[in-house]
Amino acid sequence: MPQTALITGITGQDGSYLCELLLSKGYCVHGSTRSAESESLNHLKAGLNKARLPEDPLDSVLKIHQLDFARDEATSEFLDKHKIDEIYHLAGQTRVGDSFDHPTATFNANVKPTLALLEAIRASSRSQSIRFFQASSAEIFGGTEESPQSESTQYAPRSPYAASKVAAQSLVESYREAYGLFVCSGILYNHESPRRSAEFVSGKIVDAAARIALGEEHKLVLGNFETGRDWGFAGDYVEAMWMMLQHEAPKDYVIATGEWHSLREFLEIAFQTVGLDWQDYTTSDPKFFRPVEPTRLVGDPTRIKTDLGWQPQTTFAEMIEAMVKQRIVQRRSESE
Ligand code: GDP
Repeated sequence: MPQTALITGITGQDGSYLCELLLSKGYCVHGSTRSAESESLNHLKAGLNKARLPEDPLDSVLKIHQLDFARDEATSEFLDKHKIDEIYHLAGQTRVGDSFDHPTATFNANVKPTLALLEAIRASSRSQSIRFFQASSAEIFGGTEESPQSESTQYAPRSPYAASKVAAQSLVESYREAYGLFVCSGILYNHESPRRSAEFVSGKIVDAAARIALGEEHKLVLGNFETGRDWGFAGDYVEAMWMMLQHEAPKDYVIATGEWHSLREFLEIAFQTVGLDWQDYTTSDPKFFRPVEPTRLVGDPTRIKTDLGWQPQTTFAEMIEAMVKQRIVQRRSESE
């Protein structure tokens, strides 16, 4: 029997990469998304049709749903009806900056669905055979002095987003301890790809570099330059999620490259890819600043490397170059 997985937030960056990975492994995938008719769903399907996947018609191996997490019974019925083996819970409000303006919506989106899924697993007649992955975030360590951060670093959330991720990860931890369920969290450091939207700084930079190179725009206005991150490639990170659910025991893992890069380095590589100097085009405007920034976020991926043999495959520079090049191709085809 093929394995059956549920991916919440399937049309997002990580959801789409994970969907491709699971379909290539012969899984039957159920995906949940907010709107069954959205443009992002069409994008997902178009991408899957282009990806080299097994012969089955897409509709027979991929089913899209709109799950109502407000009702625990609905989630529970769903898991039983579709005999879900693995759940990858990726849906949520993912923008840290927006969480300062919309803290309640952020909490509702990031905590209640996790709890609904955990309760549904607990209530299921198959509770001991369902495996659950929670997408947690490096932001849970936002205020820490420890560097690099590992699974044993104390939580120190610095934004409503980070606080919501601490709450969700703590729920996962307590359900694992209390009920012996196979539920775990991946503490994901920033991970980007050509599918990243311009709401994130990486997407905004590569979009600007591409537009400036094509003569469509002349400047890029960012917020705080004095920052940086441990940036990895999303395609590598979904592999780590899958590996976590194949392991013999449920454990939380830091998913990171272990390398910190400044935003200036990101800008330099992005603009160099199109033969330009970022300093000629980029300015900073306080309107894009956040009320508070995390300290130096850099993950220590030793545990996942040792336990699961996971290694990021794509370097920082390779990822940025691929993002810029793909954006140029996209812009060209959009303007045709
Ligand atoms: P995050 O780590 O999930 O918040 O990812 P982002 O890509 O949104 O932000 C990464 C860093 O870039 C943060 O420290 C931001 O303050 C900084 N940054 C600087 N300018 C911008 C901007 O124009 N947009 C965004 N999204 N972030 C910016």
